[in-house]
Amino acid sequence: MKPVIALVGRPNVGKSTLFNQLTRSRDALVADLPGLTRDRQYGTGRVGGYGYMVVDTGGLSGESDTLDTLMAQQTRQAIREADLVMFLVDGRAGLCGADEMIAQELRGFNKPIVLVVNKTDGVDPQAVTAEFHRLGLGEPRTIAAAHGRGIQGLMASVRPLLPETVDEEEEGERWPGIRIAFVGRPNAGKSTLINRILGEERMVATDIPGTTRDSVFVPFERDGQVYTLIDTAGVRRRSRVKETVEKFSVVKTIQAIDAAHVVIFLLDAREGIAEQDAHLLGMVMDAGRALVVAINKWDGLTPDQRDRVKTDLLLKLPFLDFAERRFISALHGTGVGDLFGAVQRAHESAFRDMGTSVLTRLLESAVVAHQPPLVRGRRIKLRYAHQGGRNPPVIVIHGNQTDALPGAYKRYLTNHFREHLQLVGTPIRLEFKSGE
Ligand code: GDP
Ligand code: GDP
Repeated sequence: MKPVIALVGRPNVGKSTLFNQLTRSRDALVADLPGLTRDRQYGTGRVGGYGYMVVDTGGLSGESDTLDTLMAQQTRQAIREADLVMFLVDGRAGLCGADEMIAQELRGFNKPIVLVVNKTDGVDPQAVTAEFHRLGLGEPRTIAAAHGRGIQGLMASVRPLLPETVDEEEEGERWPGIRIAFVGRPNAGKSTLINRILGEERMVATDIPGTTRDSVFVPFERDGQVYTLIDTAGVRRRSRVKETVEKFSVVKTIQAIDAAHVVIFLLDAREGIAEQDAHLLGMVMDAGRALVVAINKWDGLTPDQRDRVKTDLLLKLPFLDFAERRFISALHGTGVGDLFGAVQRAHESAFRDMGTSVLTRLLESAVVAHQPPLVRGRRIKLRYAHQGGRNPPVIVIHGNQTDALPGAYKRYLTNHFREHLQLVGTPIRLEFKSGE
């Protein structure tokens, strides 16, 4: 699982600017999906071959009266779950009392802290950093986040402070087969489902501890296929303890999504679809993961209630139409076996190799059926397509003026590829390369 870096600092020092630099949002590649909630607080990035996760904590004000606000609580949880804290200060504003209070609080967490002085553009870095030594957090690093300056050097210097990660090949050996993460809000039935699955299956090995403190990877076999189940934070053992909202960890959820090949997303049919579901699904979509939707607690619902849930799904989560849905009861085991066929199909689609000639032919048939629009009197041209990646499949499309291609047309193309390639359960990313 990816190591976690938490960005901390008082408001306005440049945390979100640095966050964007470290995560380099890939939004441009994804057609906008109605109904999807995106989180700007959590992101992933990569330097060299080293992947990491970044959390923008939103900030501690450093004022004691606000320390117990919800935001401060979430900030503390993020710090506790982080492998490293980047403490940002403003080189132009200089050292202030709030910085000193935050520094003091941070020391209590016993985490590696890197002091970062931002906004050092157009000023003498030596002069502005001098006073920050007083914080007693070691040598400050200087950056100008808004100009992307100093970011590479910063990452190079924090790299030795972060845990080692394993490469893909080693991952495959340690956690064989199709890796599955179970995602859903508290009480959706994750631990019940995991217990049900593991109770039924022959285990290839007993619990194998993951790289991260609290997550466990459990390999098992079913109908000749090997899977590794990712159990975050002892979901399984905690089965009888009621999970509180505070205990729920967004960081661990994202780490599990990231480490998985396929996500089984649990919805609670009794509670209906809530904002938190859309939020969690946004994280799955941002990671580009293959997806199976399990609507749980289907037992004992009246036909009326069932209809309502189905309508709700279409209305509130229309972007999910690419994923297979299964109506299950984790408690009684109904429908649980069917999940695995869907997982296999999603996995196969997500990792499929597609030839250039096939993709180009499909692009041509899409364009013939429905031409791209004119821009400034000239028609947008789409010439050929090839595959740019797997899990999720990336289709690179070459043409002219592709920057002007409307979102609706991108969705049309995505659907065209999906339908003709019969890709199920995986998002598809389109990338455009323009000749002009
Ligand atoms: P946050 O509240 O800590 O997330 O701060 P933001 O990232 O929103 O930045 C606050 C303000 O500082 C914005 O107006 C940014 O444009 C500005 N800012 C961020 N980084 C730099 C920098 O490197 N140099 C300068 N001059 N301004 C910056
Ligand atoms: P988690 O927080 O997502 O791990 O959810 P749990 O597995 O702890 O389940 C929360 C509650 O829902 C528990 O009381 C379970 O017994 C109950 N539950 C889980 N699955 C089902 C189901 O399929 N049907 C019914 N009726 N209750 C369920």
